[in-house]
Amino acid sequence: MTETARVQDDGSRGEDGPDLAALIESRAVDVPDFPKPGIVFKDLMPLFADGAAFRQVIDGIVAHHGADSFDLVAGVEARGFVVAAAIAYATGTGVVPVRKAGKLPRPALAATYQLEYGEATIEVHEDAFVPGQRVLVVDDVLATGGTAAAALELVERAGGAVAGFSVLLELGFLRGRERLAPRPVHALLTV
Ligand code: AMP
Repeated sequence: MTETARVQDDGSRGEDGPDLAALIESRAVDVPDFPKPGIVFKDLMPLFADGAAFRQVIDGIVAHHGADSFDLVAGVEARGFVVAAAIAYATGTGVVPVRKAGKLPRPALAATYQLEYGEATIEVHEDAFVPGQRVLVVDDVLATGGTAAAALELVERAGGAVAGFSVLLELGFLRGRERLAPRPVHALLTV
């Protein structure tokens, strides 16, 4: 999909209409040169701290996929945990944490990947899923797509069936969406 194609018919830059895209844009704070020079960090914590806005965003993700389309929500450490837990509570599903290396207490599967700023390893408990369980994977920001690719791979290696992947904000110029193709990426806002 091209950059142009992601501008929706209503002129917004998100897949769920102008309201949600504008809401995220209004609450995202750009932090230049964090955590390294040249990176503009998209801080969504002000959105998480705004109860009404946070609820709208969570409801938007649930509405996009349909509350009956997944059995569990996997969130990527750390901000993905916030999103995953809220979706799970809203839908009566459960949460599985996809954690940074060395944090999980029991046997885990690991995947290593390149980040926009460095290299990282993430892990999931090897018994996290009942085989075939439908898993919605979520994170706050999609950048190069390395984290998401590793998380989706881990869910499948652990026996889960990926039911969807959502982020609040996609950095379109880093082409993470292309890296994840043909898997669909759901982004509330693409910049
Ligand atoms: P990537 O693997 O490059 O797609 O990076 C995505 C992961 O790193 C997500 O967990 C994001 O929270 C975080 N991340 C990467 N780049 C940024 C950024 N510019 N602003 C905020 N978070 C980012």
